[in-house]
Amino acid sequence: MKGQDVLPAVHKGLFIGGKWLDAEEQSPVVNPATGETLCTVADGTAADGQAAVAAAVAAQRDWGRTPARERSEVLRRAYEAIIADVERFATLITLEMGKPLAEARGEVRYAAEFFRWFAEEAVRLDGHFGHTPDGASRAMVLSQPVGPCLLITPWNFPLAMGTRKIGPAVAAGCTMVLKPAPQTPLSSLALAQVLTEAGLPDGVLNVVTTNRAAEVVEPMLTGGDIRKLSFTGSTEVGRLLLAQAAKAVVKTSLELGGNAPFLVLADADLDRAVEGAMTAKMRNMGEACTAANRFFVHESVADDFARKLAERMGALTVGPGLDAESQVGPLIDPPSLAKVTALVDDAVSRGARVVVGGTAPDGPGYFYHPTVLVDADPASDLCFTEIFGPVAAIQTFTDVDDAVERANDTEWGLVGYVFTQDIDRAFAVSEALEVGMVGLNAGIVSNPATPFGGVKQSGLGREGGRYGIEEFLEQKLIVMPRR
Ligand code: NAP
Repeated sequence: MKGQDVLPAVHKGLFIGGKWLDAEEQSPVVNPATGETLCTVADGTAADGQAAVAAAVAAQRDWGRTPARERSEVLRRAYEAIIADVERFATLITLEMGKPLAEARGEVRYAAEFFRWFAEEAVRLDGHFGHTPDGASRAMVLSQPVGPCLLITPWNFPLAMGTRKIGPAVAAGCTMVLKPAPQTPLSSLALAQVLTEAGLPDGVLNVVTTNRAAEVVEPMLTGGDIRKLSFTGSTEVGRLLLAQAAKAVVKTSLELGGNAPFLVLADADLDRAVEGAMTAKMRNMGEACTAANRFFVHESVADDFARKLAERMGALTVGPGLDAESQVGPLIDPPSLAKVTALVDDAVSRGARVVVGGTAPDGPGYFYHPTVLVDADPASDLCFTEIFGPVAAIQTFTDVDDAVERANDTEWGLVGYVFTQDIDRAFAVSEALEVGMVGLNAGIVSNPATPFGGVKQSGLGREGGRYGIEEFLEQKLIVMPRR
């Protein structure tokens, strides 16, 4: 099959202390476009997890003292190596995750940018020196690495979710254990090889692939050696890990689920709004935490918006991501396909009308047709659930304040999108949305140079930008009396 020639070069073992180790058991990696097994990788155990933590602990002292310039240059070399190898990484992503090759190339460049950005940040870490207000003491504040980190990533951006955590951790001088999602381990394994070739010392990054996350992660998190958890995934699992992290008082950042509102005001430039909707909804087949989940469109423009969006969605070519003409790949696995199918069926049973799509094509693979629904009942499950699929459900509003209230009526608060040409309204609505990020006349918000993260139950902390590295640092105060 196409693309499979990239597989043999990827190590499939556990990466611990700079060595590739075999595991007693293996777990399959499945191509979601075909349902066929691509290869198997190590199915790490709790003991493997503990060995990885021990390796990270052993490497921490020296790595924390390694000059920032050296840490920076490892990241810079890794950035260049990834950019020189975009096609191979993109093919791996498409094989294991399903997104079309063009999108996978975009993810590779986006992922590599985190290394470039944090290579630049590594040498800009600074502190503070001053006198206490009473004049009696000198106070110095310096930033130190928080210590060994546990990084847990989801399957939807297999490379970028790793680099977004590894970049700042390396820059800050932390060692780490990465546990990638079992559906998409290959990108992380290939990344470990690149970082090793770029000069990352043994034990700084350890990778444990496993199909038994709960059994492997809990002892790592509660054992007392891990000092930082950085997790990206669902809110449900984030809550569980936050409770586990509390046992050893582990510094925690969480990038969790979303339920993004997409507001189209009466004065919006409709073509621009449709363009934004195509990105906010269809990037990654809708399998993004930032995916527009609930469309609130002013009733005066709702018909036109729905028609234009349905035309664009209906014209997309659905097919295996490695086919050059494919614009929409498969969903990640059968449960995801079943979930999207059930959400659409529920909305339709409550009166929603299907303008385009609404079904899954025949197999093989876990595909779903791009779908636009109008007249969605706000009580439908898809208004309260992350759809994580190519389905846009449109509701209407007449009053902007009411639309904002409905947009905020959710436990999540990751991102919101606002389309209007009225600058006062644009800012008023952006300020009123209970979210960590706003796309203002924009369908995409993420950039390695800007802070990414949510409020409410969408997470804690920020990744990227100058804030991202703070999550991996502690401030130490040194006080000295003045005589
Ligand atoms: P998930 O089910 O929460 O899994 C995320 C990671 O956590 C996987 O590696 C998973 O491994 C692991 N995990 C699950 N249960 C665990 C446990 N009990 N202990 C330790 N680790 C555990 O999420 P997903 O389905 O992979 O990803 C989709 C979710 O991620 C969506 O909700 C999406 O919004 C969110 N996401 C958020 C962001 C953001 O930046 N805010 C970005 C991307 C995705 P197993 O699969 O083996 O359980």
